[in-house]
Amino acid sequence: MADMRVLVTGGAGYIGAHTLVAMLAAGQRPLVLDNFSNGSAEAVRRVERLCSASIPLIEGDIRQPGVVQAVLAQAAAGGDPVRAVLHLAGCKAVGESVADPLKYYDNNVAGSLALLHAMRETGVARLVFSSSATVYGEPQSLPFTEAHPLAPANPYGRTKLMVEQMLRDLCAAQAGFGAVTLRYFNPIGAHPSGQIGESPRDVPNNLFPFITQVAVGRRPFLNVFGDDYATADGTGVRDYLHVMDLAQGHVQALDYALAHPGFVAVNLGTGQGTSVLELVQAFERVNQCRIPLRTQPRRPGDIERMWADPALAASLLGWRSRRGVDAMCADGWRWQQGNPRGYETDPPAA
Ligand code: NAD
Ligand code: UDP
Repeated sequence: MADMRVLVTGGAGYIGAHTLVAMLAAGQRPLVLDNFSNGSAEAVRRVERLCSASIPLIEGDIRQPGVVQAVLAQAAAGGDPVRAVLHLAGCKAVGESVADPLKYYDNNVAGSLALLHAMRETGVARLVFSSSATVYGEPQSLPFTEAHPLAPANPYGRTKLMVEQMLRDLCAAQAGFGAVTLRYFNPIGAHPSGQIGESPRDVPNNLFPFITQVAVGRRPFLNVFGDDYATADGTGVRDYLHVMDLAQGHVQALDYALAHPGFVAVNLGTGQGTSVLELVQAFERVNQCRIPLRTQPRRPGDIERMWADPALAASLLGWRSRRGVDAMCADGWRWQQGNPRGYETDPPAA
């Protein structure tokens, strides 16, 4: 629905910034709340420039008592009430969640709970939640449909599943509440302008930002975690989707949530599996560069192959991925090449 005010938690992060662009293009009006633990005000400024728009940006933590409530109450008092919340704020590194599970239960679960309390107290009853394909765990069948059993294999995935369960229970208890849970597969790439993109603070855990950092010369080679899987070339297979397609999915999920109370979980993926080597080869071909590789043992806990059944997103939300792996590689490289250190800028020379 155009012209609605939407609170976007975590809107200064990777997926958040791209989603702001898609929302503005659809006439939705975002209000961002972010604690900058992994996001950047510069990302939001760049979206403002890109879209010639002004985006209210509040620095704050969803867990801090009173913060979300104050944001929602203030918007209502100003005559521009928030109609829905897009909840992207959270921590997302699987390995870190194994090493420091309480950080994940605190930020992802307790943070979501605090947000839901604040929404109830201020009468905001529509939410779109960033979940993950990690909730499925080891595939019993592929593609993953939303009906696949949920058995996440790590604390990160369990926090996402717990929030899904909270939302399901809340929707059952409160007739007017509506929640769309989006189970993302593997978003990669960047806005085609090259102005916004993924800007990891540490060594990237994920494949695509590692590839772009090798390509730009920040790292000498890519580790390929396992070449002995039962896949066509022995490397792991994932469903990579363009981050702008994912962003568009949020716009359509918001529209759906506004019109439909109740709980629903929807996959956002392309339905296509791509191996590590296929992604590297596409990147080299599209961007005319070489990515040196080093084969390493399998990464503990990795799933061999997975991809989405995106049929429900098509039938329920009218959403389909439109961009292929080549566009993901070209757009991701444009961002990395223009911003070798992401949003970080070198300190001015003395
Ligand atoms: P990101 O780290 O770039 O963005 C998350 C944003 O939330 C950051 O800007 C961070 O500063 C903010 N944040 C974190 N905790 C907060 C808090 N307590 N209060 C306020 N702000 C807070 O990550 P992303 O890749 O954009 O992911 C967004 C969401 O999507 C996350 O919930 C993540 O778990 C989920 N997700 C991401 C992927 C992926 O591959 N990137 C896949 C599946 C699901
Ligand atoms: N991968 C890799 N090298 C890396 C990072 C990832 O070979 O530096 C592989 C990983 O083993 C998996 C695929 O790339 O098969 C996607 O990994 P990513 O962490 O991006 O996504 P996830 O495993 O969380 O779906």
